[in-house]
Order: sequence, then C-alpha cells, then structure tokens
Amino acid sequence: MMAQILKACVVCGTASEGPRCPRHAKPPVSRHRVYCNLRDRIVAASTVCGICGQPLDNGDQIVVDHRLPRAHGGSDDAANLQAAHKRCNAAKSGRLPSRY
Ligand SMILES: [Zn+2]
Ligand SMILES: [Zn+2]
Repeated sequence: MMAQILKACVVCGTASEGPRCPRHAKPPVSRHRVYCNLRDRIVAASTVCGICGQPLDNGDQIVVDHRLPRAHGGSDDAANLQAAHKRCNAAKSGRLPSRY
C-alpha cells in the first residue's frame, strides 16, 4: 500500500487525498452535463426546425432531435443533432420503432 499524500481542501483546508475534501468534492462533469451544454448551444444557434423547416419562434417548445436516433446507433455529436419543434420531434419519434 502506497502512502497517501494528503492535500488541503481548497475550500475548507481539511487534509484530504484530492484537491477537495469529500464534503467539498465537485461532482465529476458527467456526459449528461456535456450533452446538455451542447444541446443548449445547438438550440441557441438554430433558427429553423430541422424536421419541418419552419422558423423556431420564441413561444415554441424547442427540443434537440437526433438526426439518426440513438436507438439506431446515432451519436450525441453536434453533427447528429438539430433543433426541432417539440411537436415535430414527437411526431417523428412516433414513426420510428422505439423498441427492438
Ligand atoms: Zn473542504
Ligand atoms: Zn418543426
């Protein structure tokens, strides 16, 4: 067993194994968090719905649609994502097989 080098927590100064003690440990940035940020950027950058081609108006509920659904092997990459009206996305997903 190697000796553990303790560091002072950057928040409270308590000695711990990492830069922060367990009480102040930051949760790791999750894949979900990264995806949410990407999603927000795509929505902010988009002006038309990727499904119907109509403008995305302020009052519309906007979601991010996977061009190729994840169930079909689509990725969470920006290239596979597009902003769409929630209603268009719902109509699209209703046409695709959701289960295998
Ligand atoms: Zn602390
Ligand atoms: Zn639409």
